[in-house]
Amino acid sequence: MTDRKKVAVIGGGVSGLAAAKAFDEKGHRVVGFERSHDFGGVWELSRSYPDVQTQSPKDLYCYTDHPMPADYPEWPKGPQVHAYLHSYAHKHKLARLFRLNTNVRTMDRRTDGRPGWTLTIEAGGHEWTEDFDFVSICTGQFSDKNIITHPGQEAFVAHGGSVLHSSEYTDPGICAGKDIVVLGGSKSATDIAVNAANNGARSVRLVYLGNVWRVPYFVGGINFKRLLYIRAQERQFNQWDKTPFQKLASTVFKPLIWANFRGLETLLKIQLKLKKHNMVPDTPIEKEVSCSVPIVTPGLIKCLDEGTIKPVLGTFDSYEEDGLRLSTGETVPCDLAILAVGWKLGVPYLPQKYQDKLIEEDGQYRVYRLSVNPDLPDMGFVGFNSSFCTVLSAEMIANWLVRYADGKLANQPSAAEMNENIDMMLNWKRKERPAAKVYGGLCSAPFHFKHFDELLNDMGATRKKRGNPLAEQFSYPNAPAYGTFLASTPQYQAG
Ligand SMILES: Cc1cc2nc3c(=O)[nH]c(=O)nc-3n(C[C@H](O)[C@H](O)[C@H](O)COP(=O)(O)OP(=O)(O)OC[C@H]3O[C@@H](n4cnc5c(N)ncnc54)[C@H](O)[C@@H]3O)c2cc1C
Repeated sequence: MTDRKKVAVIGGGVSGLAAAKAFDEKGHRVVGFERSHDFGGVWELSRSYPDVQTQSPKDLYCYTDHPMPADYPEWPKGPQVHAYLHSYAHKHKLARLFRLNTNVRTMDRRTDGRPGWTLTIEAGGHEWTEDFDFVSICTGQFSDKNIITHPGQEAFVAHGGSVLHSSEYTDPGICAGKDIVVLGGSKSATDIAVNAANNGARSVRLVYLGNVWRVPYFVGGINFKRLLYIRAQERQFNQWDKTPFQKLASTVFKPLIWANFRGLETLLKIQLKLKKHNMVPDTPIEKEVSCSVPIVTPGLIKCLDEGTIKPVLGTFDSYEEDGLRLSTGETVPCDLAILAVGWKLGVPYLPQKYQDKLIEEDGQYRVYRLSVNPDLPDMGFVGFNSSFCTVLSAEMIANWLVRYADGKLANQPSAAEMNENIDMMLNWKRKERPAAKVYGGLCSAPFHFKHFDELLNDMGATRKKRGNPLAEQFSYPNAPAYGTFLASTPQYQAG
């Protein structure tokens, strides 16, 4: 018999909803906390910039039992994703489990001698503590803005200039007739630059530190999910923990793999006119692919061609009274600076002594299967990792985590096994694949299949792949297929 636990789920975004469902359907008592007034996390409407749309195609960005509506486009817009998440919460009656406008301020080990954590919670000006047997942390990677300042900002603002974090850019009306400078080269930076250029800005400059490979929605006319998200492609990147046969295959096929990636680079250079715009990256694409590879914003190349967006390799040096001095030495006109510099990764409500167990000196996280740390019992992360199909990976980890919490994994790991695996993964990231160190080493892309194989194996799934081996090599990880694989894991109920 599995004990029924009282489980806290912190966060009501994609991952919090997945975790609440997974723990609730196994019979646990779930209490979810969401500090915002609404579900959705990054897709909550007041946090989304105009024209935001997914990077993932819709059948990779959905839960296994709940496809996105047929009339949604292949890459849905922000409000559509928000509505979809609400429909998922409605379908599984998840709202009853959550307390909105409720912030978890801190958490510490219980002092009553029982396993679990005591959460300090705050809502409506009141603060209280509550004990939980297990905590599922689902606060994501985008909860604390990375705020940076440059010399002269105060005087610039005093003279009528504006400086916004990318998440504060919600009204394109503010661009009309203005000189805009966007700092950053990520998808949000190019999304905002294109949006500003299309909304009457007098000039738009995109200032970014270095060229990176970008992937368009269609590569050579083919939806990128059919080329880049498939197992046959994934196997060509240098994975962790290769078997002797896999090592031999990598050596034998090395020339073909090399040719495949050079072909892809050539295609991208031509299609995106990278040479013309001085945007060719220095790093071979196979070494760079990770969660930081952005999808090309529709309209970006057209804006670059027409000169409505001017790319500048560099960064901000300082604000002048009516402009911006860049690291290139030039001063450019600027009324509005938009800082698309991302978010601070972290768990600010976890006391330092626990963070020291979780985060290594170089910022790499010690988490087994991207979810649990053996020195921090009775808690685990869902969706702390990024990927190219985050909804599916959150659901996969949520299902893994409830079994881990209940001791019901087919391969329930010991602390020593987890530490050994964590050390092996850290060694691989540091020595063999530096690209995997992005976001604290918490990115599972481009190794979705390998990661999901490990989770399904741990859960004791009897179906982990499609029946047709050829189809398996050339299919992308679509959510309904993973629904059938999850259904093949041993089932149980707590309580
Ligand atoms: C613009 C944008 C586009 C994206 N597009 C894609 C895509 O196409 N494909 C893809 O795979 N991924 C994409 N992502 C990544 C995206 O973050 C994930 O897909 C997913 O939405 C993350 O969900 P989450 O629940 O893990 O985190 P979040 O959505 O960040 O939700 C975390 C929640 O926790 C709450 N919270 C934080 N701290 C506390 C606290 N102390 N107490 C209570 N509540 C708290 C927050 O309010 C928030 O609602 C995108 C991200 C952004 C920003």
